[in-house]
Amino acid sequence: MLIDTHIHSDTRGLEDLELMAMCLDGVITLAHDPFEMKNVKVWEAHVEKLLNGEIERAKKVGLNLFVCVGMHPRAIPPEVDEALNKIRDYINHDKVVGIGEIGLEKATKEEREVFIKQLLLAEESKLPAVVHTPRRNKEEITKIILDEISTLNLKNSNIVIEHCNKETVKWALDAGFYAGLTVQPGKLTPLEAVEIIKENKDFANKILLNSDCSSNPSDVLAVPGTVLKMKIEGIGKEIIDKVSQKNALELFNLKV
Ligand SMILES: [Zn+2]
Repeated sequence: MLIDTHIHSDTRGLEDLELMAMCLDGVITLAHDPFEMKNVKVWEAHVEKLLNGEIERAKKVGLNLFVCVGMHPRAIPPEVDEALNKIRDYINHDKVVGIGEIGLEKATKEEREVFIKQLLLAEESKLPAVVHTPRRNKEEITKIILDEISTLNLKNSNIVIEHCNKETVKWALDAGFYAGLTVQPGKLTPLEAVEIIKENKDFANKILLNSDCSSNPSDVLAVPGTVLKMKIEGIGKEIIDKVSQKNALELFNLKV
């Protein structure tokens, strides 16, 4: 069984969803930044498309699609509190498995406020939170993210720090959170992900693999491809199973 924990299905053609359905037992699609969120209605239309259109479209080709809802740091509408109330409704949907993707892009005051509000909402609703870290200034912004989280004294440590690199993965794991490894051009190669997993094998129960496939150059088969590389590199079955399915099934309570 294989799970891709972070995709953006609404950016991919049906052929790609079908390819994923052939190789994966479940995928999680997350709210992101397809438009400038000029007002809350634009943001709502995006999230509702994931909940209605995307679940149906995936079903047609046999892909088991789960959804995370939230405000991406590059897609914050002006009416933040209205959007938060909407998230409270959306999480009742039986395919919603988390809040995301949230996080920081430039760490502006507005981004931080919206990030904190969504972390508190995840805590209150006992759902995992999926936290984006940016390509630019990844180290600096990841530090700010971890600082912001630590000041909240959350009981919920079901937080995924996404798109970790060789360095930030250690910070996320040391802080007690999950680390998402994204195998995508410009992020990690399959072999780099394998190296990170080898180096952090004591934390194998906190690592999640994904493709983040989007409108950027992506590999929709990044998870099966990396699993193959792990086998070639001699990583044990137990670790492979954890990072490619078991951790995701437990954290997001996926019914596959
Ligand atoms: Zn993403």
